[in-house]
Amino acid sequence: MADGRDYSHDGPTEKCGVVGVSLADRNAARPLYYSLYALQHRGQESAGIVTHDGFQQHSHVDMGLVGDVFDEDDLDQLNGPAGIGHVRYPTAGGVNNCCAQPFSVSFKSGALGLAHNGNLVNADELRDELESLGHAFTSSGDTEVIAHDLARNLLEEDLVRAVKRTMERIHGSYSLTIMHDDMVLGVRDPQGNRPLCIGKVDDGYVVASESAAIDTLDGELVRDVRPGELVLLEKGGTGFDSYQLVEPDNTAHCFFEHVYFARPDSIIDDNLVYEVRRNLGRKLWEESGIDTDVVMPVPDSGRAFASGYAEAANEDEEADGVEFAEGLMKNRYVGRTFIMPTQDERERAVRLKLNPIKSTVEGKTVTIIDDSIVRGTTSNQLVDLLRDAGAEEVHMRIGAPAIVAPCYMGIDMASREELIAAGQSTEDVRDVIGADSLSYLSIDAIADVLGQSRADLCLGCVTGEYPYDIDGEPTDRDVERPTVGERTLADD
Ligand code: SF4
Repeated sequence: MADGRDYSHDGPTEKCGVVGVSLADRNAARPLYYSLYALQHRGQESAGIVTHDGFQQHSHVDMGLVGDVFDEDDLDQLNGPAGIGHVRYPTAGGVNNCCAQPFSVSFKSGALGLAHNGNLVNADELRDELESLGHAFTSSGDTEVIAHDLARNLLEEDLVRAVKRTMERIHGSYSLTIMHDDMVLGVRDPQGNRPLCIGKVDDGYVVASESAAIDTLDGELVRDVRPGELVLLEKGGTGFDSYQLVEPDNTAHCFFEHVYFARPDSIIDDNLVYEVRRNLGRKLWEESGIDTDVVMPVPDSGRAFASGYAEAANEDEEADGVEFAEGLMKNRYVGRTFIMPTQDERERAVRLKLNPIKSTVEGKTVTIIDDSIVRGTTSNQLVDLLRDAGAEEVHMRIGAPAIVAPCYMGIDMASREELIAAGQSTEDVRDVIGADSLSYLSIDAIADVLGQSRADLCLGCVTGEYPYDIDGEPTDRDVERPTVGERTLADD
């Protein structure tokens, strides 16, 4: 089936990026637009901005890349110094216009806009309950569920209490930017699964999925939004208020943000992503280094890992020393618009996207470094490419543990059946991809480099045990899904 996805890199796909801005007295549209450009890697299916000028909400949301969705006129019409923005690559809710975000709607309780990164585990239960109370939904996504629940709570409560009550009812992963009339909020789920940070610009404040968006605005990172925290940007861009609405026992940060999704120049939970990846590469050498003539990254995802790995190899007095080479050239014009109708053609995508520089591999033993193996199609093709180019041996080292289970928190990992490592040993996987040797990084190495205990990380896709209460799946902690039942406002 032609599905328009990029099969030329066999990696997981991030779902969304969010941003919110409150400024003194200039329109927020352009800063939001630049921020979304900086977050484009987090979602390429749709983009949107919602602003508020103090009287009314303005919205422009459409399918496509940021650069295609907005033109000068669109930005000029997005009036107001406060706004939120979103880029999306959907799972829950499907690929269509009605699920593009920010979701915006006017309720009795005011104009509401919501941009969501993550995935709720109990969205269906909440939707059923809200529908039974007369709420009509226009999309199948979980963001609208949050919006309706919040709107309902706002009929009775002030903004902060209403958000708290919604947080007590939703279960799963969420980093949100919310706009209630011209107030901009940032909310991070109690496990801090997805990133969200606060930044300061000359004339205001920003909340964004990644600090790279703040850098793009010439701003300064203030800090991460804490798990369970609501950050309320003051009108006029004068500051922000913090409300710790839920005190978590443990966090469940997605370690894959550091390994793969986030930009290397972003700082997440106090760690520069580029440095994390280099240090994971160093660990990879410590745990499973092998003497070969050349070490090369799979571009671009393996680059920082490979440089750390090669550096550690060359510092190791017991090793012979390696050459670090960029031996695989990437065709940057093969993007996600490249449609692969058949499996056969998907496999060809690797040859379209990557080409080895023969002189760097011919007659040599080669180690290639990547961040992850999902389906294994790319890895298999890469090994073939390098052998065809004359490599004598091809060894593969992976900067993350084997992915053995799907993600329910908003990452498109593939199903269990599609995951090459699900139910297979490392030796089985090595055999399938045809490498001379294959090693993954250990979970302990990830925790060590991130400076976190395993209990504070989400490791669902590499252990099969999740930090949330997911139907039919084991959990690695004491979590309970909130009971959602018939309710009326009188019950609240
Ligand atoms: S299951 Fe994996 S990809 Fe999904 S949130 Fe957890 S660590 Fe991240």
